[in-house]
This record gives sequence, structure tokens and C-alpha cells, in this order.
Amino acid sequence: MELKNKSLFRQECFVGGEWIKSISGETIDVDNPATQSSIGNVPKCGSSETETAINAANDAFQDWKNKTAKERSIILKKWHDLILENIEDLAHIMTVEQGKPLAESKGEILMGTTYIEFYAEEAKRVYGDIIPDPLPDRRIVVIKQPVGVVGAITPWNFPSTMITRKCAPALGVGCPVVIKPASQTPFSALALAVLAEQAGFPKGVFNVITGSANEIGKELTENPIVKKISFTGSTEVGKILLKQSSSTVKKVSMELGGHAPFIVFDDANIDEAVTGAITSKFRNSGQTCICANRLFVHEKVYDEFLEKFVAEVAKIKVGNGLESSTSSGPLIDQFSLEKVQDHVNDAVNTGAKIAIGGDIHSLGGNFYKPTVLSHVTTKAKITYEETFGPVAPIYKFSSDEEVINLANDTPFGLASYFFARDIGRIWKVAEALEYGIVSVNTGLPTKAEIPFGGVKESGLGREGSRYGLDDYLEIKYISMAGI
Ligand code: NAP
Repeated sequence: MELKNKSLFRQECFVGGEWIKSISGETIDVDNPATQSSIGNVPKCGSSETETAINAANDAFQDWKNKTAKERSIILKKWHDLILENIEDLAHIMTVEQGKPLAESKGEILMGTTYIEFYAEEAKRVYGDIIPDPLPDRRIVVIKQPVGVVGAITPWNFPSTMITRKCAPALGVGCPVVIKPASQTPFSALALAVLAEQAGFPKGVFNVITGSANEIGKELTENPIVKKISFTGSTEVGKILLKQSSSTVKKVSMELGGHAPFIVFDDANIDEAVTGAITSKFRNSGQTCICANRLFVHEKVYDEFLEKFVAEVAKIKVGNGLESSTSSGPLIDQFSLEKVQDHVNDAVNTGAKIAIGGDIHSLGGNFYKPTVLSHVTTKAKITYEETFGPVAPIYKFSSDEEVINLANDTPFGLASYFFARDIGRIWKVAEALEYGIVSVNTGLPTKAEIPFGGVKESGLGREGSRYGLDDYLEIKYISMAGI
């Protein structure tokens, strides 16, 4: 790693304010997805080290929750500033372990800091209520308190933001955290821990543990000390964690998979729709939970949209994310590449045509060509499964009702997009789409101020905005009598 601040690259876990190895001495190798060569390794921890981290967090809980919101805010802001001071190195680490272009890595880290900035302030506004009581000598008082130790499990596609989006509200309201990052991108998480230590979080408040997903996940979900699980990842793993969490009736937040429809109506500004579709589909090589996965285009504007969209896709420069000319990096691994190819082959076998791409990139390895499929039929697997790759399947539709039914025909309900100008249509379609996020005339709806999250099998709870605090708070009712 070519870093200015070499201390950011840690190959140990951060538990109870100490940097530790696994008890067994075993490690997990981490590869660069662009070169497939090893970057380093991290401890392969299991249930025992996780229990130690949970206990350390619990020991820290009383003091941390008893600090004032302002005292916690000062430490959060210090962490925020340190991340910004080290943004070049943090972006380098992210690109090397995750593959996304440096500019996208920097963008992600910046976005991650906005959650810290937001919650450093918003956590000062955890207001209660005084509710008028029907009896004259009584008062109903409602206060909000931190839930306790939080277990946070995060994916590889956003190695920094998925951590700050969970930790900033949790830490802000007084909850210590035990974070388990994805095994493919642990170094961004460990670098955040280096800076959290420097920022002055007390020992045990911020813990990062790497290793066996099954063992760590089981301990975090079944240990009664942990009061809350916040997970971002696949729906499949989310369901396992929900089952496991039921044994101790924990609070849970689940940010799971998506299958976003992207609708272009006949009154849309086509150039803006093309720009929105490029951003939504090809950011992070199509590996985001809110990526457009099914593009529905009205028959009247289908040919125009397809031509302009393909022309823009042709400009995407695939390569190693460290090269400044690269606008799209590799996929995370060979498994992902094979899934993408399978979806393309299956779509073609069920009637689709390849408008551009459709194959492994000449760079080989984990690189796939940005792909557009036209005339896709609803028989194709891609219509129902999350692809998580740079493939845009385009479907034709002829009426609002038809496209709303098609868009909602999925068990997922995270993000949806549409482009239109008629205000009546905009209201009607926005209300009819069964999604937690409806993005109208923009391909990039995410920011710290919005309640991010899904319905149906895309999840439970919201991250970001003032609603994001609720997931880390318990409501307590105090009954006051004899007044
Ligand atoms: P994943 O396979 O579900 O993994 C996510 C995290 O869960 C990783 O840390 C993984 O650890 C861990 N994990 C895997 N099996 C586990 C188990 N049995 N118990 C406990 N933890 C376990 O998902 P991914 O492939 O990393 O991420 C892609 C998925 O995340 C997509 O479906 C995407 O849509 C979704 N996502 C959703 C959002 C959202 O906000 N809704 C945001 C980003 C991504 P290991 O790495 O060690 O296996």
C-alpha cells in the first residue's frame, strides 16, 4: 500500500481499545479484485473474541451513555475531521481492496463523513414527550434512552459508508458498537478504527472484529448483552440473522437486497433519463443495492432512449481503479462475474438482444464489459433476481398501469426510479410504487438527510435522517402520580 499515513493499514482487530490477533493465530487473506493478488491478511476470529468484544462494549456502556450528547458529539466530530484529513489514504485502501475507481472511493468516504457530521448534531435532539394525563394528579412522561451494545454487520460494496451510517447514530445516542466488516474489505473498517482511537472514543466503545461470519454472526445475534443488530447485506443472510436474533428478542435493522425498477415515461426528458440511468446502473460497476436492475422504457421513446443510452455506456472506461482514466472497476470476485454472465446468457436465451457488451472484458480477471440488453422478456432470470453487476436490461411498456404492475412484481422493495414531467402522473406513480425509496427525475437519491431503507424483503428500519436515530433508542414511559 502506498500510503502517506502508513499506520492506517492495520492487520489486527480492534477490541476493547487493544489491537489483537485471533486466538487460533489463523488469518483470512484479502485480495485486490483488480489484480487478484494478495494485499494482506486479517485475524480469523470466532465466537470467543466476539464475546470479548461484546463484554468490552458492555463495560464501556454506562460511562458512554452518561456522557452528554455534546461530549459525544465532540468526539464524533474529531473522528469526522480525522477521516477527512486522511481521505486520500482511505480512498487508496478502499480502491485496492474493493476495486471501485479512486474518485468513487473518495466520494464514498465523503458521503460517509456526512453521516457522522449529521448525527453529531442530530443526537443532541433526542427529545421526549409530556403527554396530558386524563387524571388530574398525574403526568405521562416519555423519555428515550440508548438501547445498549450494538452489533453491526456490513457488506463489501460500501466498505466505509455502511459503517459510518450505522455507527454515527448509535455512538451519538450513547450505544457502543461491535462491527463485523465483510471479509473482502476489512481494511477500510480497520482504518476507521485507527482514526476512532485517535479521536478519543473511550476503550470498548468502538470495536472491529474480522473473521468467521457464521461464528461472529451467531455470537452477536444470540448473546443477550447485545441489544440491537444492524445488518446490511443480502436478503438471504438477513433472514438467517433475523431467525438467530429471535432467540434473544433483539431490536433489528435490516438493509437487504434490492431489484430497482427504472421507468422512463413518454413525457420524460430523455437526456436526463439517460444520465440518471448511467449513474444509477453503473456506479460501483453495478454493485449497489439501489442499482437500476430493470429499465422499463415507454414504447414511444424506446428507440431514442436505447440509442442515447448505449452511446453513453460506450464511453465507460473499464480498468484498475487506481488509474485516473478508469470510470468503472472490476467486479468483486469470480463468483460475481459468473453470476453476471449467467444472467446475460439466460436473458439472450429467452429473447433479449445484446446492444453493447455482453461478455468478459479483454482485461480478463474480474473485469466485465458494461452491458445493455434490449428487448428483454419477463421470462429472463434477470427480471426477478438481483444481478449485482454492470448489466442494464431494457423492457418495453405501453401504459402506466402495466409498468406499475411490472415494477412491483418482485419480493424486493428498496429503491425505484422514474422519469416523467406530468405532475399528476408523478404523484400517482410515486404513491403506487411499493418501495422505501422513490427517486423522481434523478439517479442518485442518497444523502445523510434522507430515511434510507426498504419494504418487503428489502428490509426493516431506516438509516439516515432523524428517523435513523429511532433504531438505536428505546422509548420509556414514566408514570408520575401524586402531583
Ligand atoms: P452478504 O453475503 O450478505 O454479506 C454481508 C455481510 O454479512 C458480510 O460481512 C458477511 O461476512 C456477513 N455474513 C455472511 N454470512 C453471514 C452469517 N451467516 N452470519 C453473519 N454474517 C454473515 O452480502 P454481500 O455480498 O457482502 O453484499 C451484497 C448484498 O448486500 C446485496 O444483496 C446488496 O443488495 C446488499 N446491500 C444492501 C444495502 C442496503 O442498504 N439495503 C446496501 C449495500 C448492500 P463475510 O464477508 O465474512 O462473508
